[in-house]
Amino acid sequence: CCRGGEYEKILNDDFDNSLFNEPFIVFEIDSIKEHKLLFPITTLIIMGVFIQKMRYKKNKKILIIEDEPRVRAALAAALSGFGHQVTQAATALAGLEVVVRERPEVIVLDLGLPDLDGVDLLRMLRPVSDAVVIVATARVAEDDIVRTLDAGADDYVCKPFSPAQLDARIRASMRRLGPNR
Ligand code: CA
Repeated sequence: CCRGGEYEKILNDDFDNSLFNEPFIVFEIDSIKEHKLLFPITTLIIMGVFIQKMRYKKNKKILIIEDEPRVRAALAAALSGFGHQVTQAATALAGLEVVVRERPEVIVLDLGLPDLDGVDLLRMLRPVSDAVVIVATARVAEDDIVRTLDAGADDYVCKPFSPAQLDARIRASMRRLGPNR
């Protein structure tokens, strides 16, 4: 990136030169300033950080579909605490209505819902929503996990799980799916 003259080779008299076969190579900050490199480099770094922040905006519009009131309330409180905008639904059909009306970016979906199985709801959701769907359930059988992912879930957490893990999985899915998700 630089001409040879921008690196100044000097012998450093403060050191015992017999210890070193080569002279010290000193990178001179002044030479960068002089050649006006510092400003464009700094600008590029700031723009890079800004673009990353824009691409992966931390706070998401999240819908929790969960029939167990205590679990739903705890999840909502935790995810709100992480800065997300949270909506809740206690049944599959209520959830579907919120999806169509509010277009959440992320859906946290329980499978054992009173009116519909979560996997059936997932199949209904997919044609109308490209939200990240994280299934949060007590079902741990491999068949259930495979069926859920095949139906369009982006990830799967087994209860009990910590809100921090759920939030990390949301971030991971958003990263995988790219800047427009
Ligand atoms: Ca349930």
